[in-house]
Amino acid sequence: MKFELSDEDHAFRAAARAWLVENVPSEPAPHDGQPAREFALSWLRRRHAAGWSGIAWPKAYGGLGLSYERQIAWHEESVIAGAPSPLDPTFVSVNHAGPTLIACGTEEQKAFHLPKILSGEVVWCQGFSEPDSGSDLASLRTFGRVEGDHLIVNGQKIWSTYADIADYQELLIRTEPGSERQAGLSWVICDMSAPGITVQPIGNIAGAHHFAQVFYDDVRIPLSNVVGGLNNGWKTAMTTLGFERATAATALQIELSAKVEALLRFAEVQGDGGFAHELASARAEAAALRALTYRTLFKDPTTPFDGSMVRLFFAELAQRIHRLGMQLYGPENADCDRLSGWVYAYLEAFSETIAGGTAEIQRNIIGERILGLPRGGNR
Ligand SMILES: Cc1cc2nc3c(=O)[nH]c(=O)nc-3n(C[C@H](O)[C@H](O)[C@H](O)COP(=O)(O)OP(=O)(O)OC[C@H]3O[C@@H](n4cnc5c(N)ncnc54)[C@H](O)[C@@H]3O)c2cc1C
Repeated sequence: MKFELSDEDHAFRAAARAWLVENVPSEPAPHDGQPAREFALSWLRRRHAAGWSGIAWPKAYGGLGLSYERQIAWHEESVIAGAPSPLDPTFVSVNHAGPTLIACGTEEQKAFHLPKILSGEVVWCQGFSEPDSGSDLASLRTFGRVEGDHLIVNGQKIWSTYADIADYQELLIRTEPGSERQAGLSWVICDMSAPGITVQPIGNIAGAHHFAQVFYDDVRIPLSNVVGGLNNGWKTAMTTLGFERATAATALQIELSAKVEALLRFAEVQGDGGFAHELASARAEAAALRALTYRTLFKDPTTPFDGSMVRLFFAELAQRIHRLGMQLYGPENADCDRLSGWVYAYLEAFSETIAGGTAEIQRNIIGERILGLPRGGNR
């Protein structure tokens, strides 16, 4: 497919570039905790105040109502300007909680939550995975009992990114007694300050505390917080995962391409260390990822739409590129003490083939839904 920018796209890009050059924070983003929350919200507030948040969100919900081409242009200009990574505490709210509310929420839910998301007032997290229900999400057991106009929730979630600093959670629970698998689930908005919620952060290999376990002990959630209908949560959850695996990841892919270019610049100055072939492959693969992303986003009618292909290719390429970065920079440039730069990013990249659905699960989806192979596994 052809992807061409119009004169208006170029004008948008120039305006974005001019604003970003003046406004990108000079200090590095903190990795976790309240400092990460404050930094991310303040950056989003600054963009919102200047009219740069919610570029592809509908105007009716406070966005600019522009195309995905413009959204991509914004991400590209942000990376060029050295803006903070989009994978920050506002990632869930802006990239998949908000879009899920737009697609499945009631008008009251949209009116209350969407302006707060876009203007940088709140942090959201996702509460889907449980200790025994990750890949096999449909086996989840956290239960919400209907009592009057509330759900009384008991159970446990795990790996909930930024749950320790979140205001709200996309919470997927079982609400129909005796139901199994995808039936009888509900997607609810959980206020993280509700009595009965306990959050315990978990450290990762890079020393950061991004994610947490969350325990629910008789937590009362109004039925009006159910998104997409009581016992219809699987459909809403698939909408969320669709955003998470496709559109939400666009900015991360653009960021990855910029890292390849940074490696090439390093090699030009310091020498390629014998990695010329790998560098050339990395640039070619980053270009292929970009083409695949554009085709997926703009739904070329000749190809099936599926974020899983993009997600899988991105995840494995990210790990290859970060490994190449470590090899090229060598031990003398590895900032192991402070765990920053390439070392930190390399360690963080291990999670790419797990988060948002593992590489094996994405392969299953591609095999079954795109290639039409026989079903396997336990999903
Ligand atoms: C950085 C990070 C952030 C995360 N953030 C969140 C979050 O915010 N909210 C949230 O809810 N969850 C989050 N997760 C959890 C993530 O969604 C799960 O880790 C993931 O779905 C895998 O589940 P699991 O860890 O239980 O592994 P398991 O499902 O136990 O899988 C273990 C291994 O078995 C393989 N496997 C399992 N089933 C099959 C099958 N049918 N076919 C082939 N292989 C199979 C898997 O690929 C994997 O290699 C995050 C994870 C990471 C790493």
